[in-house]
Amino acid sequence: MMTESERAFRRGPFPIRFRLLQVRRTTRVSPQMMRVTLGGEELAGFHSEGADDHVRLLFPEPGALKPVIPIVGPHGLSVPEGQKRPVARDYTPRRYDAAAGELDIDFVLHGTGPGATWASKARVGDFIAVGGPRGSFIVTNDFDWYLFAGDETALPAIGRRLEELPAGARAIAFIEVAGAAEEQRFDTRANVQVTWLHRNGAAPGTTDLLEKAIRGLEFPPGDFFAWAAGEATTLRPIRELFQQRVANKSWVRVNGYWKRGIADHDEPHD
Ligand SMILES: Cc1cc2nc3c(=O)[nH]c(=O)nc-3n(C[C@H](O)[C@H](O)[C@H](O)COP(=O)(O)OP(=O)(O)OC[C@H]3O[C@@H](n4cnc5c(N)ncnc54)[C@H](O)[C@@H]3O)c2cc1C
Repeated sequence: MMTESERAFRRGPFPIRFRLLQVRRTTRVSPQMMRVTLGGEELAGFHSEGADDHVRLLFPEPGALKPVIPIVGPHGLSVPEGQKRPVARDYTPRRYDAAAGELDIDFVLHGTGPGATWASKARVGDFIAVGGPRGSFIVTNDFDWYLFAGDETALPAIGRRLEELPAGARAIAFIEVAGAAEEQRFDTRANVQVTWLHRNGAAPGTTDLLEKAIRGLEFPPGDFFAWAAGEATTLRPIRELFQQRVANKSWVRVNGYWKRGIADHDEPHD
């Protein structure tokens, strides 16, 4: 018999590996979301099993052609002598197609910051390095239903999960975006109910739209897995809410993907 913990578990950590890749094309998914498709010989063998996996993207210094790639040694990572540690940010592998040799990353163009800036200027042939994923969080497909909540930074993970869920699975998603133009369509076989919440001019990370929407939800019966990601501070009440409602504490995963006013916000992931 499957134990409860086996319905949500980790794989990894996998050995650290950095791949030097190049931009194959860019696609404007919505006004504030840029899809960058990466490819290159080093992409072979890339592996991403969990919909909310993340990779560490290493960006070239302004003016440089390629990013500095850390050396993986017995005592951890180091950079070649005389070079600066590369600027790095976490992103979700939105789609990996081994046959086509393509990896899609969806970047929120939120304004300043090396990640958003690089994506807004990315041209075919530009170099970037991709580290990881170091591990995956696997959630089985046999929950009675799934609850997703997040802002646009969570859209890649939510979209990927909705597209990976099998026919017959049930999911309810609340997604906060700037406005109607930022809504996306998902190619899913599952029975999915998506509610888009519009900030209508409010700054990202300042609203309680997600919290209110979840509080207003009539939770369907049965076992569910609850997942949320987005601005760290706004997620706190949502984490509490989830913990109160789930049947098993391990059926919740809430990750602050960014924090207002903080560059490269880093918190231990659930
Ligand atoms: C596991 C994980 C997966 C992630 N996946 C994705 C993904 O697929 N796509 C994606 O776009 N992001 C994703 N993020 C979030 C992303 O890493 C952060 O938004 C990151 O800060 C962006 O880096 P930057 O260089 O653009 O900005 P930074 O230099 O880190 O920050 C500069 C300023 O911008 C603010 N800021 C950062 N992000 C946002 C935002 N979204 N909206 C408004 N202000 C912001 C910061 O608070 C700071 O004041 C993920 C994060 C994690 C931890």
